[in-house]
Amino acid sequence: MSKIHVMDEILANKIAAGEVVERCSSVVKELVENSIDALSSEIKIELIDAGTKQIKVTDNGIGMEEEDAVLAFSRHATSKLIDEDDLYRIETLGFRGEALPSIASVSKVTLDTSNGVTGTHVEVEGGHIKETKSGSLRKGTCITIKDLFYNTPARLKHMKSLYTELANVTDYVNKISLSHPNIKFILINNDNVLLNTDGSNNVLKTIKAIYGLEVAKKMITLKTEDDDYTIEGFISLPEVHRSSRNHMITLVNGRVVRNIELNRIINDSYHSFKPDNRYPIVVLNITVDPSLIDVNIHPTKMDIKFSKFEELKTLIEKAIKDLLHKKRLIPHIEVKEEKVEIKNEPIKKNYVQSQLFVEREVKEDENPYTNEEQVLFVNEDLIEDERNEVIELENNEIIEDKKERLPEIYPVGLVHGTYIICQNEKGMYLIDQHAAKERINYEYYKEKLGNPNDASISLLFPITLELSNSEFIIIKEHLSLLEKLGFNIEEFGINSLIIKAHPTWLPKNYESEAIRKIIDVIINCDKDFSIEKFNEKTATMLSCKMAIKANTSITLEEMERLINDLRNCDNPFNCPHGRPTLVFYSNYDLEKLFKRSGFENKI
Ligand code: ZN
Ligand code: ZN
Repeated sequence: MSKIHVMDEILANKIAAGEVVERCSSVVKELVENSIDALSSEIKIELIDAGTKQIKVTDNGIGMEEEDAVLAFSRHATSKLIDEDDLYRIETLGFRGEALPSIASVSKVTLDTSNGVTGTHVEVEGGHIKETKSGSLRKGTCITIKDLFYNTPARLKHMKSLYTELANVTDYVNKISLSHPNIKFILINNDNVLLNTDGSNNVLKTIKAIYGLEVAKKMITLKTEDDDYTIEGFISLPEVHRSSRNHMITLVNGRVVRNIELNRIINDSYHSFKPDNRYPIVVLNITVDPSLIDVNIHPTKMDIKFSKFEELKTLIEKAIKDLLHKKRLIPHIEVKEEKVEIKNEPIKKNYVQSQLFVEREVKEDENPYTNEEQVLFVNEDLIEDERNEVIELENNEIIEDKKERLPEIYPVGLVHGTYIICQNEKGMYLIDQHAAKERINYEYYKEKLGNPNDASISLLFPITLELSNSEFIIIKEHLSLLEKLGFNIEEFGINSLIIKAHPTWLPKNYESEAIRKIIDVIINCDKDFSIEKFNEKTATMLSCKMAIKANTSITLEEMERLINDLRNCDNPFNCPHGRPTLVFYSNYDLEKLFKRSGFENKI
């Protein structure tokens, strides 16, 4: 009996066929999802020129009988969707059946499929079946799409640069491999292996296959749940970040979705642990009852709506912040050693992998000619350690006592009035004294701004400020805020203000400068002003202002006090701009640096 039912006409119309085949990545997506539906445990995607010349997908799935193989090329045939409701259910991969006829209508297709009993070979050109005959009995399906859009030159022109096409495909395959860690994915472009996952059902190993061992080691395990949601996955240490938001990957019930708001929450949870214009690598799977979600049925966008979204956001935010606050987040400066070959045994390169890091957002209408060179590179780290079954997470320890996150370290000196050298039995630490002081000040001012009292200092000589008329209007709106903070501030003639008193915590000797800057913060926040934003920006601004400048010598006692104050911080590891306050060199790394370790005897 045929597995393919003829699809309901209304449903067929809902799926805009033309939109399914937009570019190489949408073809790959369609074919790969067919392979997943066919219960494959191994899927190999081979491209020639990013897929513009050829896309070949080979799987080891259940295959098709001859009848289904032919029917697969006719419109509105589907083996997956039975009724409209299925479209809303995230558990299915959806949209089967409609895309393959569309793809076949604009390319030359060869299909070899076998269920192990019969083998079928079908050739299709421009949508017309050219040949059907019996073929190989290798179980599974191999489909080759040649010369995409050969008969629709207008669409061919619409294709982006090869780089963009390849980046889109890689991005898709990376994500689908993360959502199906139990399937082995191999992605090859012009004989270069871009991805080779092991299908061992281990998400961390899939992360390693995509991002490399160094990144995989720096992931933190996250697990949390409430009555409605269970969230599991990995988040990168704050020191690991990328220029694109594209590496924050959320799966819902095992399926990749795109939700801008979720990404924003994830990224904001890292606030002040990393620079604001850099983004973490995050892979989270959210398990939820399908009745609590609504999936956008547009076939190329995987947006999703959650019915208890506020609850979900709070859950994710809390989980990430809790983790970051219970870790020792000191970047470890690792010294790379040259590989030495021992006993004539060559380094095995049977898994030579190159990596395509998509260091940017994949957008529909972007300029295809930007950022092209910096992106393709070979990650040599992946050549070694392939047989190493367990990836040792570098930061697995949960530290409950806040003060113990910063280890006991002892200052021994100062470089260029800028970096404090510290030591303990584990190795050497370098503290950036400006960044450290900035962090201490930031938390101090944030506390003051967040818990205002009316203690203020009257000025012997009141300060007057002249503003432009538009600035004046903005400030007038926020006068009550300034008063609450302890400012005595009044209108003083046209577009002018007079400040007669200011809060006690305002930095001494910098009063008028600080007041002017606080006024500027309000003016710059104008459009989307909020108290949180104002406090954040004001604290950051004041903290930098009051921090020790570079090239300032301080005594050992002052260094000790600085380290102690840093230890008491909520986040001792980053300045408010997200830069590290300290870095760590292990004894072993120092030895490597001076060639004391390894094959030579220690002297
Ligand atoms: Zn600064
Ligand atoms: Zn800073």
